[in-house]
Amino acid sequence: MGSRVELGFVEAALGWRLGSAQFPSKVGGWPAWLAFRNQLPRVNATYPPEPPPLLPPAPLPARPPRLRSGAALCRVCGCLAPKRCARCRAANYCGRAHQELDWAAGHRRRCRPAQSDTEIPDHGFLFPEYEIVIEPEETESSDSEVEPDGNKAKPDDSPTDGDSQKDPKKHELEAAGGIGEVFEPLDEEQLEAMAKHETLEDKIFQKFKNQIAAEPEQIIRYCRGGGGGPIWVSGENIPEAKDIPNCSCGAKRIFEFQVMPQLLNHLKVDSLEESIDWGTLVVYTCAENCNQGGGYIEEFVWKQDFTADSV
Ligand SMILES: [Zn+2]
Ligand SMILES: [Zn+2]
Ligand SMILES: [Zn+2]
Repeated sequence: MGSRVELGFVEAALGWRLGSAQFPSKVGGWPAWLAFRNQLPRVNATYPPEPPPLLPPAPLPARPPRLRSGAALCRVCGCLAPKRCARCRAANYCGRAHQELDWAAGHRRRCRPAQSDTEIPDHGFLFPEYEIVIEPEETESSDSEVEPDGNKAKPDDSPTDGDSQKDPKKHELEAAGGIGEVFEPLDEEQLEAMAKHETLEDKIFQKFKNQIAAEPEQIIRYCRGGGGGPIWVSGENIPEAKDIPNCSCGAKRIFEFQVMPQLLNHLKVDSLEESIDWGTLVVYTCAENCNQGGGYIEEFVWKQDFTADSV
């Protein structure tokens, strides 16, 4: 079913390999801005049709404070910088927060009128930078396929205890005894609904784990328009077709790739509660691959979190 899934993995790489001219697949660090569109035709006015040879340019280029178009980039994050230090008029920022960060990190000492401060300190703001390498996912033969219920097919369950197999939660509660003494007693219907919900959650999460078990280090699953679609970490918050807005050209957006939770470890943001988090990030892009005037075009990402049950 569907086309082949490609998996992405992070690898340490030298900074020069990840510059714009190399058309890098990367994560973290400064943005590697491409010429106004990530989908340039191979023969175009800005870049040669073949990438430059994989030799380190000498000397290592400083991070460009500007795009080729002349637009200034923020010294801290590498994004578009409409603001400028009023004193030296040479340091550019995306906004007040990054100006303050840079000021404290040393621009204060190097800021002189009409003198550019070329030393960019480590603000500790950027994510660690990695190259992303892509490999096709090995598909296993169908005999190890997972049953629709998320478990490997089991031999016949003993018929004598069929009831407790179906409702482990309910029986746990009953076994604990006297829940009514402490809590409001739940009625049968509520218990059933809870058990059903948890069983569904377990199934979906188990399917997710099975699917990535062979390559647990994968950070990206790529399969544009693939029949299988994304794999979900939870049964909650799965988008319906109506939740995915059309591209601004009017065409539908289709599944292109998903970012896996393993990336959080590499970005060093896996500390609970105080950092960004996701179960999976699913990216949908224009089915028509439209090119509206050659600029960057917004795409759509759906964020799904782990549920409390599945952590
Ligand atoms: Zn910035
Ligand atoms: Zn300044
Ligand atoms: Zn489009």
